[in-house]
Amino acid sequence: MHAVYIEAHGGPEVLTYGERPEPQVQAGEVKIRVKATALNRLDLYTRDGGRGLEREFPPPLILGGDCAGEIVECGDDVAEFKPGDRVVVNPRLSCMQCAPCLAGQDDLCRRSRFLGSAIDGSYAEFVSLPAANAHLLADSVSFEQAAAAPTTYLPVWNMLVRRLQLKSWQTVLVLSASAGVGTAAIQVAKDVIGAKVIATTSSPEKAAKATALGADVVINYKEEDIRDRVREITGGAGVDCVVDHVGADFFAPAFASLRTGGRYGICGATTGLRTELHLGQLFSQQKEIYGVYMGTKEDMREVVEMLNRGAVRPVVDRTFPLSEAAAAHKYMDETNFFGKLILTQE
Ligand SMILES: [Zn+2]
Repeated sequence: MHAVYIEAHGGPEVLTYGERPEPQVQAGEVKIRVKATALNRLDLYTRDGGRGLEREFPPPLILGGDCAGEIVECGDDVAEFKPGDRVVVNPRLSCMQCAPCLAGQDDLCRRSRFLGSAIDGSYAEFVSLPAANAHLLADSVSFEQAAAAPTTYLPVWNMLVRRLQLKSWQTVLVLSASAGVGTAAIQVAKDVIGAKVIATTSSPEKAAKATALGADVVINYKEEDIRDRVREITGGAGVDCVVDHVGADFFAPAFASLRTGGRYGICGATTGLRTELHLGQLFSQQKEIYGVYMGTKEDMREVVEMLNRGAVRPVVDRTFPLSEAAAAHKYMDETNFFGKLILTQE
């Protein structure tokens, strides 16, 4: 089958579009003909071996996690699906045997693996994975939109709905509105929960798009001080919650923007992993910090339910054919974009 794989770490040039064996379907697994795959920062880290993702070669590794497509084959003991079903994939595989998994907290799985990083992924014609990681997709949702959903909406859902418990009468600060997680956070906070949303971004064009998505106020962080503007907007109180997926560059002003007793969620650190924490603000103002990594299978089920109802609409910036994966990686590294980048196949 056609696939995009790496045989060494490096820049976009190590992505090879070539032939790899089709994956076999095991008991409890479904084999999916991939129609659309979304790029994630994780793909770039896996490709260049950064952030602790260095690996031994061979064998070659097929990249790609988030994807959507059609089931072509079901392994023994698969009860929920049949060939021809349209599905979207949760790329985080959990063992369903360890204590957290058995307690329904499979986001804390001790043996979790990520599709396309630990094992062969979805930059390919076919992928096989546990049926528990596939979710039926309504005909009204395109494969491109569905592929854009898992790694953006899953952590946002886990964070805002389950962990931080943002309420409709509260205010949330969403950092970096233009990234996939930012666009998902605005939609879940506004369209699902009904909260007031303050978003940050870097240009008037992106600010207009964030407003169109549902942000009540947008702060251009290149021109305005995040903390001062939040104080102004909230009458000096600060926000109830923060959605952070960018890390080091914005932690200090965002943490200072939280009200006393506020909740800070972080699910990524694309601008850097290390920062300083003002311990005085943490304890005297009784703030809470939540580390969030993807979500549970139940979080994913709820996300797909909202996707199928049209209540959330993943934002796709641009699509590339699978054969141009290297160009898509370069685009992700070098370009200012809004939403997700998608690789498609006929
Ligand atoms: Zn487990």
